[in-house]
Formats: sequence, structure tokens, C-alpha cells
Amino acid sequence: MKLMKTLLATVGLATAAWMAPAAAQDKGAVGISMPTKSSARWIADGDNMVKVFKEKGYKTDLQYADDDIPNQLAQVENMITKGVKVLVIAAIDGTTLSGALQKAADKGVKVIAYDRLIRGSKNVDYYTTFDNFQVGVLQAGSIVDKLGLKAGKGPFNIELFGGSPDDNNAFFFYDGAMSVLKPYIDSGKLVVRSKQMGMDKVGTLRWDGAVAQARMDNLLSAFYGKEKVHAVLSPYDGLSIGILSSLKGVGYCTAAQPCPIVSGQDAEIPSVKSMLKGEQYSTVFKDTRDLAKVTANLVDAVLAGKQPEINDTKTYNNGVKVVPSYLLKPVAVDASNWKKVLIDSGYYKESQVK
Ligand code: BGC
Repeated sequence: MKLMKTLLATVGLATAAWMAPAAAQDKGAVGISMPTKSSARWIADGDNMVKVFKEKGYKTDLQYADDDIPNQLAQVENMITKGVKVLVIAAIDGTTLSGALQKAADKGVKVIAYDRLIRGSKNVDYYTTFDNFQVGVLQAGSIVDKLGLKAGKGPFNIELFGGSPDDNNAFFFYDGAMSVLKPYIDSGKLVVRSKQMGMDKVGTLRWDGAVAQARMDNLLSAFYGKEKVHAVLSPYDGLSIGILSSLKGVGYCTAAQPCPIVSGQDAEIPSVKSMLKGEQYSTVFKDTRDLAKVTANLVDAVLAGKQPEINDTKTYNNGVKVVPSYLLKPVAVDASNWKKVLIDSGYYKESQVK
């Protein structure tokens, strides 16, 4: 009887192994290098990728680099040494990884630039991201709509903030936003009192909210004695929160003096809460679940020797080559549609943002 049971168990095991779906195979390891945990979006990106890669049968090595460039370089080199098959990298500074990527290429390791383009290297195989120019268009569009500029209202005062100048995305966000704002600035319906325009003047190193807050403090004291600022172009929620702190410090966001129209990006929880309080006006949602899926599908196809799905072969020149890309669509969010976009989609629970 005992023997029978053992036999059955063995046969059962063998059958289970034989029937096991492909996902249970060991397809090798994927190195996932993320920039920082200081912003919730990258934590979500990392978690979502680990989940989808595991479902597909990969092992994962997920590392965060604390926004420190040598740290990220060391982490990536370590992943290569440990024998990952693929690197998925959201770079801190898109130009600093060339040496490591050459080592990767020499070992046949595929490299996917994740969300942020890696510049100056031929060893970047694919790029998965959102339509970054469109992000800027949506940010500026929300400001233009709310101010009523299309209906001829104005003039209004606006100040401009850009993202980190070592992140290629920051230029796309800024250019996209300016494609919408520039005609109003040219016609005088929008006035940049500081005259600070262009990424060289408005960039915010490392996307640091404290840096944005300090710059807003300076702008307010130097250019807004009696005049009021009516809108602030902010490319990222973490900066928007800093900018709003600065504004509140000099009496904005009260019944007598409402907040200016402040944009954002990433639909981070503090910013969604701020929107619901009527402070930050808008944000741009980029579903990190979709980006993780697209990236994992792409990796799976590449490793199987198949042609992966891409939808852009023109936009992202990294200085050495045009990197074949898959672009997802960003979504504008404000107090009118947050529930539908963020809660009904299951991205957040309502209790998280209330
Ligand atoms: C990402 C944004 C993010 C920013 C700061 C950019 O590269 O595309 O989603 O807001 O980095 O983390």
C-alpha cells in the first residue's frame, strides 16, 4: 500500500512536471535597475515588473540606486557579473552607463531602456516608455483650459519649471508643454515675469522638490511683490508639492488668494490628495502596470528570437542611434476624472487618497 502511494505520488509529480506551463520554466534572470525609492512611481514600476516577469518564468534582481549615479553603475555591473540575460534600466543620468552597457553587449545581455532613454550608447536594444512629448502637451493643456485662454481670457502670469536636465524625458516634457504655451506667451496672454525660459534656466536637478521650492521662493520674492502668479507649469508631482509649499508660505491657497493653476505628473498620492483639496490642479497618470507588461512582453519576444512589438521607430535618437520604442498613452487627470482614471481602474483604493 505504502509502495503504491509512493508510486502514485511519483507518477503524479512527474505528470505535474510534464504538464507544467511554460511560465514555470526557468527562463533566466532579469536585472531591473530603478533610480530611486523617493518617488512612489518607481516603487510601483519595480513591484509591477517583478510580478509580471515572475509570471512569465523569469527570476528578477531588482535594485534601487538612491539617485546616486556611481551606485546605479555598480548595481548594473554586478547584475552583469551575476549573469542576467536582460537589463531593464531606468537611468538616473541617461549618459553615464556606456561602459557597463558595452560589457553587457560583449556578454550578449540585452538592454531595455525603461521609461527614460539611455543616451550615448549603441548598446541599447529597445525603449519602453510613454509618449513624453504628449505628457507636456497635457500638462500645459490643463493650464490653458482652466485659465480660459482659448476663450480669449488673460493676460495671466505664469512661471515655468522643468525636470532634471540629465533625464532625456525632461526635454520632451518641456518641449511638449511649450508647444502649447508658446503661442500665448508670444501674444502676451501669458506673461513669464521672471523671463526664465528654456531648460537651461528652468531645469530642476534630480527632480528634487526642495530645489523647486527654493526656486519658487526666489521667483515670488523677486518678481511678485504686488503682482500675483496665476499658473505654474510643473513637470512632476514631487516638484508641484514643493512649489505649492512655497506659494502657501506667502499666503496663496486661501479663500482670499486661491492657489495658482499648478500641473504635475505621476498621480502620486500626496498630489491626488492635494487635488482633492483644491490645491494642485492637475496631474498626468502613466499606468506603470501597463509599462511593466509591455516591457515583459518585449523581453520575452526578444529572448525567444522573435520580433517584439514596437510602435515608434523615429522619435528617440539617443545620440548614436534611433532606439526602437514602444510608447504608451499618458492620461490627464484633475478633480473631474480622478475617480474614473485612478480608482475604477484599480490603480488606487479610494481610502488611499482620501
Ligand atoms: C519620468 C516621470 C517622473 C520623473 C521624476 C521621469 O523620467 O518619466 O514619470 O515624474 O522622471 O521621477
